[in-house]
Amino acid sequence: LISVRGLTKAYGNFTVLHGIDLDIAEGEVVCVIGPSGSGKSTLIRCINHLEAFAEESRITVDGIRVQPGPALAKVRAEVGMVFQSFNLFPHMSVLKNVMLAPMRVRKSTVPEAERKARELLARVGISEQAEKFPGQLSGGQQQRVAIARALAMEPRVLLFDEPTSALDPEMVGEVLDVMRKLAGTGVTMVIVTHEMGFARQVADRVIFMDGGRLVEIGTPAEIFDTPREERTRGFLRAVL
Ligand code: ATP
Ligand code: MG
Repeated sequence: LISVRGLTKAYGNFTVLHGIDLDIAEGEVVCVIGPSGSGKSTLIRCINHLEAFAEESRITVDGIRVQPGPALAKVRAEVGMVFQSFNLFPHMSVLKNVMLAPMRVRKSTVPEAERKARELLARVGISEQAEKFPGQLSGGQQQRVAIARALAMEPRVLLFDEPTSALDPEMVGEVLDVMRKLAGTGVTMVIVTHEMGFARQVADRVIFMDGGRLVEIGTPAEIFDTPREERTRGFLRAVL
């Protein structure tokens, strides 16, 4: 579903991604781990072109080339994103936050969008918060709204950039539970995370990045139990 070939990205003359190759199949759950500054966020932000990248690099999603131009809207309609900082619209109710994109982009009617939004809020366990504003919710609840909002577009791919790292520890579990449930539904997920237990349990494959390179990719057992690369071993020793 996602194909990345020779992905290279530089800020000025500082190269942050050095020719990444990666294929992700439909329905796969892939966790991306690695030290701070290794290029994890940059990699997933390139997938929906939130970051521009070198012209000779090639990314396709569902066969559509990711590049500036008219096809980009199509890619973005299929690729949802959940950020560390939720990025909800503060002046809109939870319900409106979830209804907005389907109405604007998919031209859903109000009743359609509302029915869908309520269904999604129930799915992430916060039906009773629908009329509140984001500021009135806990961090864990806000992040669950952000997930519902991403799901409202019925994306084929969901990208997560450290969805639990801005949360108080007691709220991490509720968000990971929602993501764990999602992982069984067939949506393709690419998740940058520091939650190694979650990655081991939920990922089909784990990517270890370091210094803008994809150092190692494998099943959770391969990466966590029998890593081949010394850099992977060193990182895991430091974080586990
Ligand atoms: P973290 O775990 O801290 O989120 P990361 O693996 O997500 O790190 P990136 O955010 O992808 O890392 O950053 C990769 C490199 O690119 C870092 O060295 C960072 O300093 C650099 N970088 C990121 N954004 C910019 C920018 N706008 N301008 C210049 N350099 C940047
Ligand atoms: Mg990051």
